[in-house]
Amino acid sequence: MTDTTSQQFTFKAETKQLLNILIHSLYKDREVFLRELLSNASDALNRLRFEMVTNHNVLDSAAELNIRITADKDSRTITIQDTGIGMTRDEMIENLGTIAQSGARKFLDAAKDSKVDLTQVIGQFGVGFYSVFMVAEWVRVTSHSFNPDAEAVSWYATGDDNYQIDRADMSERGTKVEIKLKEDAAEFAEEYRLKNIIHKHSDYIGFPIYLGESKDAVNKQTSLWRTSKQEVTDEQYKEFYRQTTLDFEDALTHIHVSTDAPVQLYALLYIPSKAERGMFSLRKEDGLKLYSRNILIDEYNKDLLPEYLRFVQGVVDSEDLPLNVSRETVQSSGLMPKLKKVLTNQVIKELESLAKNNAEKYQTFWQEFGPYLKQGVAATPMDADTINPLLRFKTNLNPETWSSLEEYVSRMKEEQKVIYYIVGEDPKSVLRSPHLDYFHSQGTEVLLLTDPMDSFMLMGLHKYKDYELKNVSSAEVDANEKPKEQPEAEKIPEADFSTLLARFKIVLGERVTDVRASNRLYQSVARLADADDTVNPELQRVYRFLGKEYEIPKKILELNPSHGILKKLLKLESDSALQDIIIEQIYDSALLIEGLHPDPSSMASRVQQIMEAALAGKVE
Ligand code: ADP
Ligand code: MG
Repeated sequence: MTDTTSQQFTFKAETKQLLNILIHSLYKDREVFLRELLSNASDALNRLRFEMVTNHNVLDSAAELNIRITADKDSRTITIQDTGIGMTRDEMIENLGTIAQSGARKFLDAAKDSKVDLTQVIGQFGVGFYSVFMVAEWVRVTSHSFNPDAEAVSWYATGDDNYQIDRADMSERGTKVEIKLKEDAAEFAEEYRLKNIIHKHSDYIGFPIYLGESKDAVNKQTSLWRTSKQEVTDEQYKEFYRQTTLDFEDALTHIHVSTDAPVQLYALLYIPSKAERGMFSLRKEDGLKLYSRNILIDEYNKDLLPEYLRFVQGVVDSEDLPLNVSRETVQSSGLMPKLKKVLTNQVIKELESLAKNNAEKYQTFWQEFGPYLKQGVAATPMDADTINPLLRFKTNLNPETWSSLEEYVSRMKEEQKVIYYIVGEDPKSVLRSPHLDYFHSQGTEVLLLTDPMDSFMLMGLHKYKDYELKNVSSAEVDANEKPKEQPEAEKIPEADFSTLLARFKIVLGERVTDVRASNRLYQSVARLADADDTVNPELQRVYRFLGKEYEIPKKILELNPSHGILKKLLKLESDSALQDIIIEQIYDSALLIEGLHPDPSSMASRVQQIMEAALAGKVE
């Protein structure tokens, strides 16, 4: 690029549109322009401070890191000057001219959504600087980079299509933003007004903000997470969450802690109310913001919480983290596991108290984030004792509400020794499963596991307290329990039943490991049971869910010796076509109910044959 003194540039289309909206349609909350400029100044100061940790060749290295605002009512001007990192000519063109493209586009999208309060969120699109055009007739940014060899440069724009870059006269390090206020924005040249705005939006900026010639900073200078809980209002917590995540919905709850032992830390964490990030979400990845003594050292730190709590948002700040470090040394400092332990405990504690004190919120939490905890059960068995009490289930006896394992156990009948569950496709169809026949008849409660994640969860959930978990499809599940009195339907005589079993075995062949009578079926004709030595029946479902190479698992087909269908089936001519078709269909239906059928539509033609046969008997 030629280093001529003055150069004109044209804004890209999106930036023009963005400016147009800012200048012509936003009149409310225009004061946020100051928050945006101060936030930029603060960023620039932070970056400088970080630079100075390793670089000693910095312009004005002794200058205080601060921000100074001067205002002049008569000329309707304000100037905001920082001693931050500054910008070179190229950086200026890049940062204030071109780079905001994608942000501008997203901002324009957001502008179409009437729910979104644009002035609240503009900073999050990386276009916060432009908000100055809500109040400015023109703006001049003059900057001198921290690099002693750089030249000062200025950027000037009026909010129309062009901006201008000039060589400038400025010897000190940092950036100065001069604003000529519009006539209807003259209020922003009043010091008391500026003071108010700073208190409202920028109190927590970690560098002194001076007004006029004053030597006393206007702002508090502590970040929100370092402020004591008692001093923070609900509204401030909400605002902080909005600003960090750009989530328009309030968080479900927040956790604000400061501890000194075993590690020093401040943390302000949030549990969002939705698992899915909003369309405009600022947070592109999981992870917490990690600060060391107020300086951001990692935007998305994933080592501060276990995987299964990765939905938690927020900030962690520790005095114990060495500042002069690369990410690798942070990892190896041994501090991270300690921080992680403290933070994990805090989050779990908060969830426990939510579950106890606010059932409605906890339900929302569970519906959104249950799958994460389930994954945790499978992936982090050593945390089982922590996670298991947080799990919630629907059951055959309480299909509409969520029960904890503790509640399930408290409702168990005295003689019940294990926790029963059934795995299925969806909550409605699982209730019709033949596996439940027996349990319904006994009034025994069974957990309904119908979420795909449940199968993963079961890989880690074998026991709760002293109670083993047992799948109702396991053949021996009721070995120790006597079936209750049932209206005795007449059974098929032994000899006939053997004939029938033999026929089933011939027709189904290798597809089943055995065919036998069941004493557990009442309404249903048949069920597929796992032999007790089957390795992890849940895994079958996991594989199917993952679309892995999948073979229909071989199971035992159990038949109900009292069922009318089987009685009539016996009356058909042995090895008749219809008998075989019906046997096939009984097997397929059982597969279907298990959620194991690889291709249900393949049954259509057979079902049609059966219908034809049924009608043939009725209408002739
Ligand atoms: P964001 O702050 O989200 O990046 P902005 O529109 O507020 O977006 O600012 C655009 C860019 O302009 C900043 O990223 C930064 O590089 C540069 N910038 C703005 N103000 C300053 C400043 N006071 N000092 C140094 N650089 C600045
Ligand atoms: Mg900004």
